[in-house]
Amino acid sequence: MSEVQEDLNPFDIAQSQLDHAARILGLDEATHQFLRLPMRELHVTIPVRMDDGSTRIFQGFRVQYNDALGPTKGGLRFHPEETIDTVRALAAWMTWKTSVLGLPFGGAKGGCICDPKLMSVGELERLSRGWVRAVGSFIGHDRDVPAPDVYTTPQIMAWMMDEYSKMAGYDVPGCITGKPILLGGSEGRDDATARGACFTIREAAKYLGLDLQGEAIAIQGFGNAGVFMAELARDLLGLRVVAVSDTKGGIYSADGIDWQVARDHKQATGSVVGLAGTRPISNAELLELDVAVLCPAALENVLTADNASRVRARIIAEAANGPTTPAADEILHAKNVFVIPDFLCNAGGVTVSYFEWVQNTSGYYWDLATVQERLDARMTEAFWRVAKVHEERGIDSRMAAYCVAVQRVADACKTRGWI
Ligand code: NAD
Repeated sequence: MSEVQEDLNPFDIAQSQLDHAARILGLDEATHQFLRLPMRELHVTIPVRMDDGSTRIFQGFRVQYNDALGPTKGGLRFHPEETIDTVRALAAWMTWKTSVLGLPFGGAKGGCICDPKLMSVGELERLSRGWVRAVGSFIGHDRDVPAPDVYTTPQIMAWMMDEYSKMAGYDVPGCITGKPILLGGSEGRDDATARGACFTIREAAKYLGLDLQGEAIAIQGFGNAGVFMAELARDLLGLRVVAVSDTKGGIYSADGIDWQVARDHKQATGSVVGLAGTRPISNAELLELDVAVLCPAALENVLTADNASRVRARIIAEAANGPTTPAADEILHAKNVFVIPDFLCNAGGVTVSYFEWVQNTSGYYWDLATVQERLDARMTEAFWRVAKVHEERGIDSRMAAYCVAVQRVADACKTRGWI
């Protein structure tokens, strides 16, 4: 057992990953230092009238990490344990994500310290509108475009778009993505993250020469990303979902878990735990199951120096952001586990967000088949860009993705004449 405590601060991790990539790329000192820090960040306080007549003050953030490749883009989290360093790390990862996918965006992220589970619908609406009023001059269609993330929903995006449009004095649907379809959202946005992840798993299996039909997948986290993963892993890849979990724990069935039945059970009881025909397992056990594919789809730092050596999956598909620490990465690479790194694996969401923004801009809307086909093409191209570098340089797949992404942003900074 390691005596030294692993540094789990997400921004320290994001910076150390960048440092590693900078060494591999031989990046000059100025560019390296520039890319280690966000270009801009805004901290706001948001007073919200609560249902009991009191006023509560919430803290919010928006971090614009780098806009060399275009307006910044990134989700917004409502979470009781949100920290500025988590938001900074996520903004950095968004920068690498839009870059590796070849999208005309930089990276950003937002957050608000709150617990939506403990708020009424009215309180949540007033907070959402308050967040937009507080950051309104900082964001916008051509400047910085937020989207949903942990505990934020299409309804929240709709309130925010409406508030922004009121401030502008005209309708600005492209100021935010992940909206309901009625208000300019895109077909295919709801399952885009999971669908994109499945496309990368399909390509990884091709690359590794694996047949996934009938093989097992375990999914940690049963929210937006996790539920659609359970559905599409079966429908698109022929995988058997043997385990899923949420904050209350996990469930296992060797025969496979039906995602609809599990979702209905969670809706009725608040958790997947207790589903008939399954046995309970802990979140820690889920990560160590003997499966072809392990999909962390919850929060950061779940694969660490402590448990990485016990992972038995052949492919790790990081639907979540930042689930693997650098120490765990080293162990997994040595064990020959193929990691599809977060900012490649879960880029389907931002890719369809990009499609939504394009559709809002042109006022011409695509059908579902077109969205899915274009998503497949983008994800497949990005996977092979990364696989090529992984192969040629003999570096792990996360560093290969970093090399592709960081080089593109560095070139854009230089071509603009910034450095
Ligand atoms: P969500 O809030 O809908 O779901 C999160 C799920 O994780 C919930 O089921 C929750 O119970 C579970 N969870 C939380 N903490 C847990 C823990 N400690 N152990 C086990 N389960 C836990 O969020 P989401 O949108 O599905 O996002 C999940 C991850 O995917 C995040 O890292 C997010 O940044 C990433 N992601 C999501 C999208 C998207 O489009 N939804 C896009 C890119 C990345």
